[in-house]
Amino acid sequence: MKTLVIATKNQGKFLEFKKMLQPAKFSIISLHEFPDIDIKETGSTFDENALIKATTVCQKIGLPTLADDSGLQVDILNGEPGVFTARYAGEHATDKENIEKLLKNLSGVPLDKRQAQFVCSLALVFPDGKTFLEQGTLEGLIALSPRGTGGFGYDPVFLVPEINKTFAELSANEKNNISHRAKAVEKIKKHLFKHMQEEEVENRRIE
Ligand code: IMP
Repeated sequence: MKTLVIATKNQGKFLEFKKMLQPAKFSIISLHEFPDIDIKETGSTFDENALIKATTVCQKIGLPTLADDSGLQVDILNGEPGVFTARYAGEHATDKENIEKLLKNLSGVPLDKRQAQFVCSLALVFPDGKTFLEQGTLEGLIALSPRGTGGFGYDPVFLVPEINKTFAELSANEKNNISHRAKAVEKIKKHLFKHMQEEEVENRRIE
């Protein structure tokens, strides 16, 4: 059976991807099984970082690889924090510190001027070099103060205006139905299922 590598050591993210990729006719593993592989996110865009991760892992392991890079862009901050989303308040900043910095930088800005997007770039790379890149985005507003206890990262301040709830006020299923990650996965699925099948046929011919 063919195998797909998800280029993450984060078990939560891995399980989320695995669930979104069902029903899959291939096995799915994470970088958990390759602890020596360490990739630096040196790109200046989400697309570049996703491509760096997928290409590096695919070349090292020799298996089809899916990698993501995601983050938050705030319009009035000229797209900040962008690729620095995870380390906005410093290299080892906590979610709380990152949110505090964001709210401080937006102090005095009224709710209707706090437009933001969550972005998820997904890169899929095959050992023969075939490469696919897709992006999912979700528009929202940065809330005036944190609300809700679910999720992770910036979820308590990411307000979905249509339902007047932050991501942290949604159940995991509700969030996974609308999130930037879910949208990117839906787009990459068609390439993934088509080309994983082709790989399998190709391998059977070689055997
Ligand atoms: P990475 O792609 O795993 O490096 O994620 C970048 C950062 O973006 C994370 O550390 C989170 O702070 C933030 N982020 C990405 N997706 C979400 C989300 O769905 N909710 C809240 N924060 C997110």
